[in-house]
Amino acid sequence: LAIEKGNLYGIYDDQFNSNDQRKIQLASDLQTAIDEDSLQLYHQPQTSIATGDIIGSEVLLRWIHPSYGFIPPDEFVRIAEDTGIINKLSEWVFNQSCVHLVELLRLGVNNHLISVNMSVHDVMHNGFITYLIRTINKYNLRAEMFVLELTETVSVTDTKKFTRNMLELKDIGFSLAIDDFGTGYSSLTYVSKHPFDKLKIDREFIQFLDQSEKDFTIVSATINMANSLGLDVVAEGVEDQKTLNLLKSLDCEMAQGYHISRPLPFDSYIEWLDEESK
Ligand code: C2E
Ligand code: CA
Ligand code: CA
Ligand code: CA
Repeated sequence: LAIEKGNLYGIYDDQFNSNDQRKIQLASDLQTAIDEDSLQLYHQPQTSIATGDIIGSEVLLRWIHPSYGFIPPDEFVRIAEDTGIINKLSEWVFNQSCVHLVELLRLGVNNHLISVNMSVHDVMHNGFITYLIRTINKYNLRAEMFVLELTETVSVTDTKKFTRNMLELKDIGFSLAIDDFGTGYSSLTYVSKHPFDKLKIDREFIQFLDQSEKDFTIVSATINMANSLGLDVVAEGVEDQKTLNLLKSLDCEMAQGYHISRPLPFDSYIEWLDEESK
C-alpha cells in the first residue's frame, strides 16, 4: 500500500519520514475525495462597505478526512500543489462553483459574483483555460460572473507563459484578484506585471488595524495605491464593527470576514442570503 501511495510522487524511498508519509497518505486520500465528490465548497460573503450590499462570495474548500477529521485547506492545497493533484482539485472547485451559481440564479439571486481561489500551477497548466471555458459554456454562465483569486505561493518559472495566460483569462472576461496582498510573494512586482482588477489585503494586516499604527499605515497606503491604480480593494478577516468603520474611513471598497459571516455550507449560505434580503 505504501508503495502504491509513493507512486503519486513517481518515486518511492523508504527514507521518507513520518511527515512525508502523512503527505503521501493525504495526497492519495485527497485524490479519492475528488473522485468520490466528498469535498465541500463553503461560501463566505463579500459586501460593499459603503452600501452593505452583497457583492458575491468567496468559495472555500472543506475536507473532512475519514480518519484525521478536519484538515485545514491551507495544508491540503499545499499538498495538492506539491503532488500535481492541484489541477484536478481546482477543476472540481470550479465545476462545483458553477453548479452553485446556477442554483443561485435559479433562486433569483442575480449579480452575485463567485470568487474562486486558483493556484499559479493552474494558470500555467495548458488545459486549464480550456476547461474553464468549456465549463462555463456547459452551464450557460459567463466569465464575467467569476473572480479568480491568485496567490503567488510558488514562484513562476516561465513568466512569459504566465503573463500570456493571465491576459487570456482577462480577455475571456474573468476578473482577476491578487490574494493575500502584502504577504509572501504577493508583492508590488506581481501587481505591476499582471492585469489585476482587485486586490485583497491579507487578514494579517486587518486583524490589528485598530491597535497597530503600523498596520493602519500599511493598509491606508495600500488602499490609496490600489485606488490610484484603478483596483478594487477587498479587506479580508474583518471581525468587528470598529474595523469595518476604520476601513470605511479609508475608502476601502469591500469587506469579508466573520463580522459579516463565517464561511457557510451552501445551504446555510442560501438561508443567510434570504435573511439578509429581508
Ligand atoms: P484565503 O484565500 O486567504 O481565504 C481566506 C481565509 O480566511 C479562509 O480560511 C477564511 O475562512 C478565513 N477567514 C475569513 N474571514 C475571517 C475572519 O474574520 N477571521 C479569521 N480568523 N479568518 C477568516 P480557510 O477557509 O481556512 O482557507 C485558507 C486558505 O486555503 C485560503 O486562504 C486559500 O489560500 C486556501 N484555499 C481554500 N479553498 C481553496 C480552494 O478552493 N482552492 C485553492 N487553491 N485554495 C483554497
Ligand atoms: Ca482567497
Ligand atoms: Ca488571506
Ligand atoms: Ca491564501
